[in-house]
Amino acid sequence: MTALHDHICDVIRSDGPMTVARYMEICLTHPEQGYYTTRDPLGAAGDFTTAPEVSQMFGELIGLFLADYWLGIGRPSPVHLIELGPGRGTLMADALRAMKIVPDLTGAVQVHFIEVNLALKEMQKKAVPGASWPGSLDEIPPGFCFVVANEFFDCLPVRQFIKTSPGWAERMVTLEDGKLVFTQGEVAGPLALPEAGFNPGDIIEACPQGAFWISAIAQRLKDFGGLALIIDYGYGREGAGDTFQAVKNHKPAAVLESPGQCDLTAHVNFVELKEKAEQNGLTAYGPVAQGIFLQNIGIEARAGKLLDQANKKHKKDILSAVKRLVSKDEMGELFKVLCLAKKGEPAPAGFDQDQ
Ligand code: SAH
Repeated sequence: MTALHDHICDVIRSDGPMTVARYMEICLTHPEQGYYTTRDPLGAAGDFTTAPEVSQMFGELIGLFLADYWLGIGRPSPVHLIELGPGRGTLMADALRAMKIVPDLTGAVQVHFIEVNLALKEMQKKAVPGASWPGSLDEIPPGFCFVVANEFFDCLPVRQFIKTSPGWAERMVTLEDGKLVFTQGEVAGPLALPEAGFNPGDIIEACPQGAFWISAIAQRLKDFGGLALIIDYGYGREGAGDTFQAVKNHKPAAVLESPGQCDLTAHVNFVELKEKAEQNGLTAYGPVAQGIFLQNIGIEARAGKLLDQANKKHKKDILSAVKRLVSKDEMGELFKVLCLAKKGEPAPAGFDQDQ
């Protein structure tokens, strides 16, 4: 049992059952014992690995994708390069290195990281000297911006709703004989849950903080122009069921055990994000499968260049990284890419073969 487990039990004893979103929020971002506030979760010694940690090509290609858009839109300056949940800062460091080939772009760029994790902030400082760490998008000075979020939205708390014969119920976490268990409660607040098409026992999810971030991004893009690139594992159709999951040491774990010790995530509901973006007056491109997006923006050419310079061992690593990022049975299909822009602005490259 963890200290956070005792804290959650105390909260339930005093306030009653809590929503899945509240449980997830305490587990991930409790100021002293939350999973994301206390450790570096990434890499072989951590709990999971992400695309920028798999290969430098990922961040480089995103850097070139943004540079291409910047050239096409008339080289605005300054360019605020904003990353949500930047992890070790690897994606940004790789992107900035690749962007150097475009004259004047590096000089125009100002990097801003939104991050809750102090250990990771230290790593970001080393990876990208000169970045700033604002508390919110509002603190970033006016100007054209690119927003990048890789595996950020999946960390945001989700609410879960279960279809019952009288209607939708909210899935809650409660205490039974000293153990955390799921139960059901009344759905709080005004929510437009679907009327038809679901059977008793079906689960759907909503991510209020995800919707909040889309609104904040929309405001920024409408005011100053730019693009947002959201990459995550998720689904592009309605009602994908229960996707709430825990991971520890690269293996699945039980979501209600060891609060604060495992990564808790939910698949990103790209339908919800896209709808929210469009309601906020943005144009949405995708979601397209990550494999298709990376091929569209040139992963094969980039890998070819690296292969030319590589020794035998390194060649094997490059080929296996491309496979991991692109192939359908690895990250290529489950991971999706959604791009948002202000209505009327040019379309970004890479979204041609919508899946
Ligand atoms: N983008 C990185 C890291 C992904 S892990 C990569 O691809 O490697 C998720 C990241 O989001 C971590 O940096 C984590 O600390 C951060 N994070 C999680 N919840 C957050 C929140 N509510 N606000 C800000 N950052 C958050």
